[in-house]
Amino acid sequence: GPAAPPPPPEAADPYVRVRGAREHNLRRVDVAIPRNTLAVFTGVSGSGKSSLAFGTLYAEAQRRYFESVAPYARRLIHQIGAPKVDEITGLPPAVALQQRRGTPGSRSTVGTVTTLSNLLRMLYSRAGTYPPGAERLDSDAFSANTAVGACPECHGLGRVHRVTESSMVPDPSLSIRDHAIAAWPGAWQGKNFRDVVQTLGYDIDRPWRELPQADRDFILFSDEQPVVTVHPVREAGRIQRPYQGTFSSARRYVMRAFSESRSAATRRRVQRYLESAVCPVCEGRRLRPEALAVTFAGHPIADLTRRPLADLPGILGPAAAPADGGDGGPEGTGEAAAALVEDLVARIEVLVGLGLGYLGMDRTAPTLSPGELQRLRLATQLRSGLFGVVYVLDEPSAGLHPADTEPLLDVLDRLRAEGNSLFVVEHDMDVVRRAGWVVDVGPGAGRYGGRVLYSGPVPGLRQVEDSATRAHLFGEGAAGPGPARTPRTPGRWLRLRGVTRHNLHDLSVDLPLGVVTAVTGVSGSGKSTLVDEVARAVTAGLHGDAEDPGDARDPGDGDGHRPDADAADDGGEFGEGGDDGGEPGGPGPVAEAVEGLDAVDRLVRVDQKPIGRTPRSNLATYTGLFDAVRAAFAATPEARARGYAPGRFSFNVAAGRCPTCQGEGFVAVELLFLPGTYAPCPTCHGARYNPETLEITYRGRTIADVLEMSVDEAAGFFTDVPAADRSLRTLQDVGLGYLGLGQPATELSGGEAQRIKLAAELQRARRGHTLYLLDEPTTGLHPADTALLMRQVQGLADAGNTVVLVEHDMAVVADADWVLDLGPGAGDAGGRIVAAGPPLDLVRTPVGRTAPYLARQLA
Ligand code: ADP
Ligand code: ADP
Ligand code: ZN
Ligand code: ZN
Repeated sequence: GPAAPPPPPEAADPYVRVRGAREHNLRRVDVAIPRNTLAVFTGVSGSGKSSLAFGTLYAEAQRRYFESVAPYARRLIHQIGAPKVDEITGLPPAVALQQRRGTPGSRSTVGTVTTLSNLLRMLYSRAGTYPPGAERLDSDAFSANTAVGACPECHGLGRVHRVTESSMVPDPSLSIRDHAIAAWPGAWQGKNFRDVVQTLGYDIDRPWRELPQADRDFILFSDEQPVVTVHPVREAGRIQRPYQGTFSSARRYVMRAFSESRSAATRRRVQRYLESAVCPVCEGRRLRPEALAVTFAGHPIADLTRRPLADLPGILGPAAAPADGGDGGPEGTGEAAAALVEDLVARIEVLVGLGLGYLGMDRTAPTLSPGELQRLRLATQLRSGLFGVVYVLDEPSAGLHPADTEPLLDVLDRLRAEGNSLFVVEHDMDVVRRAGWVVDVGPGAGRYGGRVLYSGPVPGLRQVEDSATRAHLFGEGAAGPGPARTPRTPGRWLRLRGVTRHNLHDLSVDLPLGVVTAVTGVSGSGKSTLVDEVARAVTAGLHGDAEDPGDARDPGDGDGHRPDADAADDGGEFGEGGDDGGEPGGPGPVAEAVEGLDAVDRLVRVDQKPIGRTPRSNLATYTGLFDAVRAAFAATPEARARGYAPGRFSFNVAAGRCPTCQGEGFVAVELLFLPGTYAPCPTCHGARYNPETLEITYRGRTIADVLEMSVDEAAGFFTDVPAADRSLRTLQDVGLGYLGLGQPATELSGGEAQRIKLAAELQRARRGHTLYLLDEPTTGLHPADTALLMRQVQGLADAGNTVVLVEHDMAVVADADWVLDLGPGAGDAGGRIVAAGPPLDLVRTPVGRTAPYLARQLA
């Protein structure tokens, strides 16, 4: 059984002790975990690791914290509920770095998340070199997010929208009467404009290009608004009275329509005549001229925030050295600079060590992967000076090439050495091997799990026969997803030329069709960028235009796959996610597909974006499973007698749902410090439906009972509803049998969301010419689950489809037919294809940083 030494007096007890934990599927778990140790929580997905680490240990630490700082919050905490556990002793305050929650706002950047921006601004404020006579600026003046700092021309955006003659007059051979000024509105309003121009004495019948430049400039760009009396000429047989017409230049019209029109269609129409350009005042640097005039080490602040972090120590360090102190600042500046630079450089070096040196401080948070964000936060903790806390982490190795895992472990070690404890949910066996303690949860998922199979030093897990982790941890070589396959031989190819974006420059990419390709490389080498560009090129080829990259996204976002068809009254949540805030200036040129495009007739992107952003979506609504379930309820004799249609059983439709919470099951609770906290609805207690709806049962269960079921339970229940049964079985096939049907989308991890999308895709009829793009599908997966997933992936290729996956798990890479290894490094040091071929070829002629790890896997 679990190795829990008998408890000594609490103060001297080096263990966190949990008694009777019952959160979710945990079965009265007792466990003791030493403090000041790297402790990992392992087990198949759904076994209960997070329920123990986050749902119990972290939740309890957080509850105690709130009680201590805000006793009045007790009542609210009572509503939210404490974790279900008898007792926890020896628990330090906890900090959670969890991937699925707390994505920062779109104004956040690498600089703000890491607090590097504050330090850098302080450096410029206090120790920068100012032009002669200039006043010292406050550090806020170096932020484009403040009124005092933002460039007044572009309001800190760095770009402006503007019109040009060629954007508004695409065809200068036309006359004004023949609509040369395309930017003007159509119909009667356009005619007004033309009449006014004619009344003002301009020739509206000559081709535009023959008009004098001064006339053209006035008509297009003037800020004047002369008023004239227009005597309309007969047009199309209609007679009009004279009227007072006001002139408005084409620019004025476009800008006002763009910024003020209430009609989205009008805004969209005039946007076509706007060009987005770098702001001429700040040159894209987003700050006021006064702030940009201040330099440090010869650079304005904006030059440093856009560089890769890795460049900064080399620039800042020498400038702050005592010998070089004379940078024109007032007395004491040298010391202030030295201290700030020392702090900045130390923080940046941690980030560089974690393989994040390719990021720039101005990179916005929505463009970062969850793994990048978590590592940024982790590194920030290193300098926070906290000790005696427990950090609870969720798969910190996600998104990491094996070569990047070492530095991550070093950071975890340093946090521990500073006197902290680390509780880490992990699937990467290299991390598990380095841990001082392992808590293995299982043996299966959901109700087949929920027990602690082992808690102790790692080697002891070898003796635990029930453990699914054991074989993967100790059984070297046997860790692959199955017996070695003979790789498929590529036949046809998709060949792209001129792939250019981020760190990829005019790259040529040859992708084999009909096989499984793994794209590998260290973090920042360009894998996601490459896959995005493949998606764009294929989308452009499929639709004959490149303007709408939204088409290339996952099945939930576009193309009529709107799983909960009756979710009509809550405003299109499934339509979200098409626009993730991208970069200013648009997506840029699309690579040219020179071969193979005709062999792809559909593109499916299976990514880790949430399947919905409100608790109203869940896997049942997303996959369409719920449609079948509701139909089954509506077909019961009682429902038919009462005239309840399937819509009645949707919590998105007013007739059937609980009026208090409008079908959410929860109500928002206002709690200081804890935005977005929910408590169960006081009326329906989480059931979501009104009592009349709940009077209808299908085989003895209400619709609310069904939402409480796990996929596994439901699969045994709906065997006679074919559509539901098919959905449920595909969900089991991707290892999601443990998930609850009604578990809100907002509670699902990125990996779970991705597997739900994959299942939704798998339950459709198979066709042979689809290109599937998968972004690190093994995130959140225990090796045992990875094997399950790969069987599905191989099935797609067996049916003639093409699968491209970005992957770090060498067991998966070894199981692919073809490998594209990007690198050799990150950022500008990457972006090239260093090796391409079947996995064994990569190992035989090793180049690049992936080959050695792949060799170990294939040994
Ligand atoms: P792991 O971290 O090992 O993947 P979890 O602790 O997330 O597993 O899940 C354990 C069990 O608890 C699963 O059956 C899961 O469906 C269930 N569960 C997890 N979160 C919730 C939730 N918010 N509500 C209901 N059940 C949940
Ligand atoms: P990988 O997927 O291999 O981790 P990425 O494709 O995310 O690498 O990144 C490759 C390079 O492109 C890096 O230098 C990264 O900073 C840059 N990059 C990625 N996304 C963006 C973005 N949205 N804006 C600016 N630069 C980006
Ligand atoms: Zn500007
Ligand atoms: Zn309710």
